[in-house]
Amino acid sequence: MKSQSQEGYYGNYGGSFIPEILVPAIHEITREFEAVKQEPSFWQQYCDLLSGYSGRPTPLTYADRLTEHFGRAKIYIKREDLNHSGAHKLNNALGQALLAKRMNKTRLIAETGAGQHGVATATVAAKLGMQATIYMGREDMERQYANVFWMKRLGAEVVPVDYGTRTLKDAINEAFRDWVSSFETTHYVLGTASGPHPFPALVAYFQNIIGIEARDQMLGLEGRLPSRVYACVGGGSNALGVFQAFFPDPEVELVGVEAGGQGPNSGKHAVRIAYGQGKPGIAQGYKTLFLQDRDGQMTDTYSVAAGLDYTGVSPILADLSEQGRVRFTAATDEEVVRTLQLVMRKEGIIPALESTHAFAGALQDIAESSSSDIFLINMSGRGDKDIFNIAEGLRDEEWTEFIHRKHTQYAK
Ligand SMILES: *Cc1c(COP(=O)(O)O)cnc(C)c1O
Repeated sequence: MKSQSQEGYYGNYGGSFIPEILVPAIHEITREFEAVKQEPSFWQQYCDLLSGYSGRPTPLTYADRLTEHFGRAKIYIKREDLNHSGAHKLNNALGQALLAKRMNKTRLIAETGAGQHGVATATVAAKLGMQATIYMGREDMERQYANVFWMKRLGAEVVPVDYGTRTLKDAINEAFRDWVSSFETTHYVLGTASGPHPFPALVAYFQNIIGIEARDQMLGLEGRLPSRVYACVGGGSNALGVFQAFFPDPEVELVGVEAGGQGPNSGKHAVRIAYGQGKPGIAQGYKTLFLQDRDGQMTDTYSVAAGLDYTGVSPILADLSEQGRVRFTAATDEEVVRTLQLVMRKEGIIPALESTHAFAGALQDIAESSSSDIFLINMSGRGDKDIFNIAEGLRDEEWTEFIHRKHTQYAK
């Protein structure tokens, strides 16, 4: 029996399609979320933790050498890589954990694909003295073992999911299964601005801090708003995080960059919107554009950036695309690898492969821009923590040899 509520729709998308048994849990979160939105003291507590623990506000960096290289739009970078644990993910995990404490929950559960949200949740659980259980597909655990290592070291239990494709969507199902029997004591920390209402709104609310800061910083540095704001889009949380603050400013163009993988006709990408291949469907508790086959089965996605490798997309973004408020584009793996090398050498910063999609999207437009334009790029996370993936993405032979040497060393 599925329960559907009219609440939480964004145009044609969103809603809440969940087993009847979870309705009270979802209602409790919705109620609590509505309450804290009216409480400045809760937001203050959240901001205090962000500044004292997480290092916020993160800077807005003028990319002078990259700007000079193209001689067109001025490029600014919002530095979520400098947020604790190296990405924007902690903003959401911290906010939801504070909410969970208010609801007297003692345990957090989370799904994770690449492991980044799992690490953020494990980090927050340690900091706030809560238990954590992280569900992760067995296949993903094999591919992202470094993150599994950190989750366990931080005290979380990591549960391998051994059915289906053994990836993110199976981990989500398993997390919901846990929650059905545990919601009295447990909060489900959903990792992105997707899933059943109120999660898209809740996650977007906590990530809003990115855009609030960036807008202020831009006005302080330039005395004006950016012409365009770029963000990569997996589930959509960092994009909504930076975009929302600019919703009242129609002159600011908002651009979401999806993972083009091996291109539009390869079947190996995660582009739901920009290639027009995502079709409306209902899965994982909500309605959005999913990459699916003719029978409505979700198709496998692919990207060099594991964090963008997802078949659905935030219902809020699906709607904003239909409204024409957010433009969508895609960057292929090849563009991303090329862009990453340029950004590292020109700016001395190492964006995550996910974040590099936002840079690549901006560079697609740079030739047509003028020196009176300002591009704001949201750098959602840092890449040095993903050294295995980046070295693989760059096909670095010396690194591969190093791994072989290490292996031989341990085998002795
Ligand atoms: C998880 C992740 C993403 C994708 O998630 P969104 O919810 O779309 O933001 C992007 N960048 C980094 C660094 C990530 O860890």
